[in-house]
Amino acid sequence: MPSALRRKPDPLTLTDRVQGAYLGLAVGDALGATVEFLTPREIQHQFARQGGVHREIIGAGWLHLKPGQVTDDTTMSLALGEAILACGGRVEALAAAQAFDAWMRAKPVDIGNTVRRNLVRFRRSGLPEAPPCEHDAGNGAIMRTLPVALATLAQEEAEVAAAFQRQAHVTHNNPLSDAGGICLTGMIQDAILGGSWIDLKTRARALVTAHPQYAWETGRPQANPSGYVVDTLQAVFQAFFSTDSFESALIDVVNRGGDADTTGAILGALAGAWYGHAHIPPRWLKALDKTAASRCSEQASQLLQTSRAGRALA
Ligand code: MG
Ligand code: MG
Repeated sequence: MPSALRRKPDPLTLTDRVQGAYLGLAVGDALGATVEFLTPREIQHQFARQGGVHREIIGAGWLHLKPGQVTDDTTMSLALGEAILACGGRVEALAAAQAFDAWMRAKPVDIGNTVRRNLVRFRRSGLPEAPPCEHDAGNGAIMRTLPVALATLAQEEAEVAAAFQRQAHVTHNNPLSDAGGICLTGMIQDAILGGSWIDLKTRARALVTAHPQYAWETGRPQANPSGYVVDTLQAVFQAFFSTDSFESALIDVVNRGGDADTTGAILGALAGAWYGHAHIPPRWLKALDKTAASRCSEQASQLLQTSRAGRALA
């Protein structure tokens, strides 16, 4: 039995947490995208009339988004989730690669360099696994792990890790991306399955033990996090573990600037799983693009159903 399934009774239902995770991902992406690539100082200046803090979903940013519009973090997750559902709940590399390729052909609003390069390589070679590369330690594979976490909720840890790697290696075949993504996937699952705060912290600390560059309890806030997977997860862990609500955690992480849509999306998925759907501020859910919101909600239910079919969950 995975350790995540050994837990205390939970006042929130699995549905609350699964819906919270998927809508949290989209809300975090939409909120963060407004300030992507800004520094904390630039954000303070731009939002001086709001007390120097960015806290509303208003679109714009360097991508000139409509209010509530989401970016690649959400749409790649949805593409992956659809591929998983089409494979009966299994995370398969070729299906993931084909789904990402179709997503890229549909001209998404943004796309990471590593994702683009390795999807072009897939188109040419037909091989759904990128060659190992020490430079491919961006956050592009971990930002889309939520559907993997949901589809493998009832599975053993080794199976969860292998599933993460099958989807991740389509574009990012890198040990730091793997370690961070497997840790994050486990933390999201622990949160959904009712694990404790200590369970989540233990996972994050185990990641630091194996890969000390991930150390986040340094007393130095990770400001302006880049797309490097280590910077991303340090910012997410600092914001998540130092706050006590979905809203405060998400506002903390996106106001650090940098790759704010991606730190927002990852934090949103984790905090949404932890606090549940009911704790996402209604004004953010209302502002979210309606099509994206309904796709996230529907896919969350379908992936949970797939997991339930695989094993009895509470
Ligand atoms: Mg994005
Ligand atoms: Mg980003």
